[in-house]
Amino acid sequence: MAERTLIIIKPDAVQRHLAGRIIARLERKGLKLVAAKLMQIPEEVARRHYAAHRDQPFFEPAVKFMTSAPSLLMVWEADGIVDMARKIIGSTFGYDAQPGTIRGDFGCSQRYNLIHGSDSPESAEKEIASFFSPDEIIDYDLVDSAWLYSPRISSKK
Ligand code: ATP
Ligand code: MG
Repeated sequence: MAERTLIIIKPDAVQRHLAGRIIARLERKGLKLVAAKLMQIPEEVARRHYAAHRDQPFFEPAVKFMTSAPSLLMVWEADGIVDMARKIIGSTFGYDAQPGTIRGDFGCSQRYNLIHGSDSPESAEKEIASFFSPDEIIDYDLVDSAWLYSPRISSKK
């Protein structure tokens, strides 16, 4: 199975009608969507999702933001997707993120940064399991995959 990542289109992006444009950024890269649902994230799930930041001053506001309105949760799949998605998403704060990235193009806020992408394949597996049951993730072939993906061959050193 190819690597997977959890993508959350956060409440600010859903409220600002940006979900379609954000999904288009991932689609045009050739990444494969394998699960999706609209959901208002329950408080305990948001607390668990950001548990690594529990001692930070921004923890409570981040939980409040993430639970304040619906989010669009998705699982995307491709070899190397965790790194590719983080590059497309851009650095954490909108005012700092490179133009051309989702956060760099659509926002300038610290907290309201539109989208989440898992930060490692290991955290992706845990995050996916906390939002999706296995039967909600669809295994299927993309018809254009032969033109999108090629075996990776390392150069000689
Ligand atoms: P995410 O985990 O949401 O994809 P990230 O991995 O880029 O974002 P993290 O360091 O994991 O960034 O921070 C989690 C979230 O907490 C950020 O998306 C942002 O909304 C909020 N956050 C992080 N640092 C700060 C801060 N210094 N001030 C305010 N909010 C912050
Ligand atoms: Mg993070």
